[in-house]
Amino acid sequence: MTLTAYDLTGRTALVTGAASGIGRASAALLAEAGATVHCADLDGKGAQRTADDITASGDSAHAHTLDVADRAQIAATVAAIRTGAGLDIMANIAGIMHSSTVLETDDADLDRVLAVNFKGVLYGCQEAARAMIEQGTGGTIVTMASGAIDTGAPGLLCYGVAKAAVVQLTKTLATEVGRHGIRVNAVAPGWIRTPMTDRHSDEEQRLAEEPMVRRTPLGRVGEPTDVAHAVLHLASDASSFMTGQILRPNGGVAMPW
Ligand code: NAP
Repeated sequence: MTLTAYDLTGRTALVTGAASGIGRASAALLAEAGATVHCADLDGKGAQRTADDITASGDSAHAHTLDVADRAQIAATVAAIRTGAGLDIMANIAGIMHSSTVLETDDADLDRVLAVNFKGVLYGCQEAARAMIEQGTGGTIVTMASGAIDTGAPGLLCYGVAKAAVVQLTKTLATEVGRHGIRVNAVAPGWIRTPMTDRHSDEEQRLAEEPMVRRTPLGRVGEPTDVAHAVLHLASDASSFMTGQILRPNGGVAMPW
């Protein structure tokens, strides 16, 4: 067994949320491992910046403007990639954060978070799995859950519910497509320093870095590359006997069985 298990040369990946934070770091790492990476984001200019930075480093990337909450857009993006080299890796990383207590939450909050954080992942999984089955080449699908699945957290009802649903989607799909050589796994990061957490940190400390650091055995919050390495592991042959699993780059803040 050597590090060649992490070599993605000749494979094609689609990474959503690639303009920023964890998606950007994951796109760069998959490209560094040898994959041709399609960087997709609602922020098309940001996706282009990520693709340009990857290309400038000597690796291979393309950019797409994509709203994951729109099934037709995901279908078109996957179809375009399939027509080219085929799709081997789907990393569903795009997501939004919304903070409101249970009593404050209204239908609009719930609908928007579920549309992006759950339906967006569902559409990505469906389109990628269909393409991989038709290609007959197998593949790997990675979904992005969150430490919010492991505990209640004030203000994170919509977000936590959507992420719990992503885990159930991941496990269910894994049972259905394993016979096609397709593996489906989730990453559930702890607090990672990204534009998302910067935007949502609040002074009441309901969502804040400092209390999270105090609760974390490793005594720090995470960086996007901490999660990107988990994504690479699940996307590559290094995890070839893993499916339906949840990998937790969280500094030890939660340790479920
Ligand atoms: P981020 O820096 O805000 O990056 C998320 C990216 O997704 C942004 O570029 C965002 O674009 C894009 N996006 C939002 N809605 C989209 C849509 N409908 N279609 C396509 N792209 C869309 O956040 P991050 O912290 O890297 O989070 C990435 C993922 O990790 C999310 O699923 C998040 O829930 C998960 N996660 C994060 C943490 C953490 O502590 N950071 C912990 C656990 C899980 P805009 O900027 O234009 O909205």
